[in-house]
Amino acid sequence: MTKIDKIETTLYRLPLPEAVEAASSGVMADIDMVMVRVWDSDGAQGCGYNPLFSGQGSALVEIINNVCTEIVLQEDPSRIEWIWHKMWRRLHYAGRGGPVSFAIAAVDTALWDLKANSLNLPLWRLLGGFNPEVKAYAGNIDLNFPIDKLLAGADRSLNDGHRSIKMRLGKPSLKEDLSRVKAMRAHIGPDIELMADANEAWRPDQALRALRALREFDLVWVEEPIQPDNFAAYAHLRNNGGVPLSAGENLHTLAEFAALISAGGIDFPEPDLATCGGITPWMKIGHLADAHGLPITSHGVHDIHVHLLAASPNNAYLEVHGFGMNPYIEHPLVVNNGIATAPDRSGHGMEFNWSFLEKFRVN
Ligand SMILES: [Mg+2]
Repeated sequence: MTKIDKIETTLYRLPLPEAVEAASSGVMADIDMVMVRVWDSDGAQGCGYNPLFSGQGSALVEIINNVCTEIVLQEDPSRIEWIWHKMWRRLHYAGRGGPVSFAIAAVDTALWDLKANSLNLPLWRLLGGFNPEVKAYAGNIDLNFPIDKLLAGADRSLNDGHRSIKMRLGKPSLKEDLSRVKAMRAHIGPDIELMADANEAWRPDQALRALRALREFDLVWVEEPIQPDNFAAYAHLRNNGGVPLSAGENLHTLAEFAALISAGGIDFPEPDLATCGGITPWMKIGHLADAHGLPITSHGVHDIHVHLLAASPNNAYLEVHGFGMNPYIEHPLVVNNGIATAPDRSGHGMEFNWSFLEKFRVN
């Protein structure tokens, strides 16, 4: 029987093209990227990665090397659900979220890539095969940019083929946020879709005031107006703010998504496979949203999320994130007239330039 016979975990530190700011993280100049590669006894291979804030990747490497590797080795690679639950249970006491979910995610992604590669199927077909064409938006990170640079970033996104653009909120005063949104809406006109991401900048009372003031700008959503786990406040804001809400990158378990959805707190669930435990729970969150009549969107890791959304009948938007892997892969995602297409290469189809990546290796 086929078994997993090798797993390798590597940490890279990748420079960003320029320093960018979001309200919760502050200014970021580089990111950590944890890469997991797996091989099976038939010679098939897969890889999964997790981009996260600089300095935090080594915690994932420790968890994977000390716990996950032993669990994965010698397992049947077709039994991903079994392997996922073994990792989840073994790491339960220090886990159920946080870095443990991130670590399991990198391994789980590599296992799905391996499985799809061994079947010679693109991931989107293996996971459900709904429609390879997915609506995309540019997830720009621009809180530290003056208004002219903010607008230039929107122009660049439009030139890149986008028809939907996200900007950041969370300046010290609401007045300043509103003037930036007003300038953006005037610049892009009424036909380009606009999202805004507050990255948890506000208390619930501040968020309610902000949402009401933002109504006039026809936003697709306001993302993470408040801290991620105050589900009752999300429901309050959704019922009273008058602007659709999105959130999910900082929810790290299926149970948290179930609680937020059950509370009636969300219009656009936005799970990130890299932060919620991998492709295995992401697909469940997508189906959970579908069962509640909600769309599903994604956060980050767009080269892989394009497959998950292409597998999902309720897909709404793919976030094309600022922390992309474009310099390190052979076939960067293309957006045409607002649409991204899941590739028909096997697995997730990301072909990393390993020798170039090696320059950024930390351990
Ligand atoms: Mg966000």
